[in-house]
Amino acid sequence: MQKFIYKLYKFMYGRNGIDELYKVGLILCIILSIINIFLNNRILTLIEFLLIVIIIYRSLSKNITKRRHENNVYLKQKRKLKNKITLIKRKWQDRNTHIYKKCPKCKKVLRLPLKKGTHTCKCPVCNNKFEVKCRRGEKVKVEVIKNK
Ligand SMILES: [Zn+2]
Repeated sequence: MQKFIYKLYKFMYGRNGIDELYKVGLILCIILSIINIFLNNRILTLIEFLLIVIIIYRSLSKNITKRRHENNVYLKQKRKLKNKITLIKRKWQDRNTHIYKKCPKCKKVLRLPLKKGTHTCKCPVCNNKFEVKCRRGEKVKVEVIKNK
C-alpha cells in the first residue's frame, strides 16, 4: 500500500492537483449527473464528459502557473459575487435605518444614515465630498396592538 502511495506521490509531483476550480467542476458534474438520471439527455451527457476531461486535464497538468491563474480568476469572481450578495443582505437588513451610496470618485459603497433631504457626504476612503439626495426619512416602526 505504501509503495502505491509513494508511486502516486511521485506521479503527482509537479502537477496541479486538486484546487477550488477542481472541486466546483466536480460538484457541477455530480449535479449534472443527478439531473441527467431523470432527463437522459445526450447533450447533457456530452457536457458531463467534457467537464470530466477538463477536470482530469487540469489536475494532471504540469503547467501550474497557468492553472493557478485560472483558479485565481475563479476565486476573484467568487469573491465578487459573495460581496454582492452580502451587500444585498445588508441593504435589506438596514432598509429602514440606512441607505447605501457609491462614492463617485473611488466607487466605494458607503453606508449612510437615512435622513430626508440633500446632504453633503465625505468619503472616508478618498476624502471626496459629494451630495446625497434622500427622498425618504427614517421609518418609525409602528406596532399594532390588538384590542382585547
Ligand atoms: Zn471615495
